[in-house]
Amino acid sequence: MPDVMSLLVSIAAIAYAVWRVARLPAVWRGASFHRSYRKLEVNRRSYLIFVVEVGLLCAGIMLGGIGLAVDNEWLRRDASLALVLLAVSLLPVHLMVNAFNRPRFLVPPDLRHEPGWVGRRQQARRRRATGRPPTSHPVQIIEIRPLPDEPDAFPPVLVASCTSDECDWESREVPLEKPRAEAIARRYAAGHSDNVLPDIERD
Ligand SMILES: [Zn+2]
Repeated sequence: MPDVMSLLVSIAAIAYAVWRVARLPAVWRGASFHRSYRKLEVNRRSYLIFVVEVGLLCAGIMLGGIGLAVDNEWLRRDASLALVLLAVSLLPVHLMVNAFNRPRFLVPPDLRHEPGWVGRRQQARRRRATGRPPTSHPVQIIEIRPLPDEPDAFPPVLVASCTSDECDWESREVPLEKPRAEAIARRYAAGHSDNVLPDIERD
């Protein structure tokens, strides 16, 4: 019975790795991706190194599972451990891609000129020092209304939301019934960026 379990774990590990790798071409070309696993951020810039880590880790788990199933000590212990350690040893590279956008070849070509989060933080500081908002991210004003079949679920609001891939900034909600609601939402947006989109997106 444990043999079946370890084979199932192997298959699950490989299925997860394949699922992540399959997404790579789309993310490399521009599909947005942004997740945080604990403190480790995965975004478009660090997706390639993330996929390599996941591939090595899952291959290690798979070999360990097969090693258990067929009772092969080398597979179960040495080979699987080597792959898992190799995956873990890439974490500093992953952190470097996020922080400095280096090494370049790991970053999609259209993002290679961008700073990492360290450079972005410096940029924001410089911009603030000259009286400008910290970013030039495109910010969209969005009108959020309840669904037509539940019109009283909540009062309609405006919210300013940053559309940049690696930024989660969102303003407070402004009730639409407030006088000059749009101006208030735009003022919030102007505190984050000098690139506020002119139209309102209606949800
Ligand atoms: Zn932003």
